[in-house]
Amino acid sequence: MSATVLDGKKIGRVIEEELNHRIINLQSKAIIPHLAVVIVGDDPASHVYVRNKEMACERCGIKSTRIDLEGDISEKEILDTVHMLNSDNSVHGILVQSPLPEGINESLVTDAISPQKDVDGFHKMNLGRLVQGDSSGLLPCTPAGIMKILESSDIDLSGKNALVIGRSRIVGMPMSILLAQRGIDATVTIAHSRTKNLQDICREADLVVAAIGRPEFVKSEWIKPGATVIDVGINRVKDSSRKSGYRLVGDVDSDASNVAGNITPVPGGVGPMTIAMLMSNTIMATENQSK
Ligand code: NAD
Repeated sequence: MSATVLDGKKIGRVIEEELNHRIINLQSKAIIPHLAVVIVGDDPASHVYVRNKEMACERCGIKSTRIDLEGDISEKEILDTVHMLNSDNSVHGILVQSPLPEGINESLVTDAISPQKDVDGFHKMNLGRLVQGDSSGLLPCTPAGIMKILESSDIDLSGKNALVIGRSRIVGMPMSILLAQRGIDATVTIAHSRTKNLQDICREADLVVAAIGRPEFVKSEWIKPGATVIDVGINRVKDSSRKSGYRLVGDVDSDASNVAGNITPVPGGVGPMTIAMLMSNTIMATENQSK
């Protein structure tokens, strides 16, 4: 059996196109949606992600401003930049690219962003709303994008076993909440680095979301035949046959596509959906601030 590939690039582009009439509507009121992206330091992967986000803004007709800060900048200077963007009325969305250099408190920076401009959906007010069962606000882009993939692929999760591997603030934890919410109704297990018998838990799962950050960690033998597999991981592994010297692999063994019913590719699965949801959040933030 070969799994159906859940094409995040294609679904993401549809989401971006669906934003078009809302952007035109804003433009008709002389409002140009504007995303500010702050990047600290010279992490090559972060620079690729930021460039991809800028290109998506160009595609959609969203203005983007990139603020490059030196890697040795102080936490206070990052916070000052965020405060400056908070008070700039022409900026509707603010994103501080993760990871921040060691010693910088990421939660402090995230929570300094005005909740109305928090297009990454990481502010405690936006995450708190989600915990209260309200998913109508600014949601974290990666889990929200995964929900869109599942929805547009007609994957019914009601009463099904969903396993989320990873409990991070930005992926695993909000993902678990979204899957368990009323109307989706999955029975969710959250696995993490201390979980015992992960393979056995995985074999029971109708849906596996792997957000670990370890190349091909989840083996094909762990996957229940016909299950849906969402591979969030983006890992660079050395590959001397490539010009770049590396290739991207997910957190799931590529052979899993021989067992799963549906699977997201890496690249081209969750990544483009994350960007599409960032565009969607930017438009929502602009509309909310323009009322
Ligand atoms: P993180 O490092 O914050 O969290 C990793 C999680 O994996 C932790 O909760 C940890 O408990 C769990 N874990 C670690 N070892 C484990 C083990 N042996 N067994 C079970 N669980 C284990 O990472 P993150 O920010 O959530 O990102 C995870 C991956 O997803 C990374 O590869 C990252 O690059 C990728 N990512 C992709 C996108 C995208 O748009 N595609 C977005 C965000 C993150």
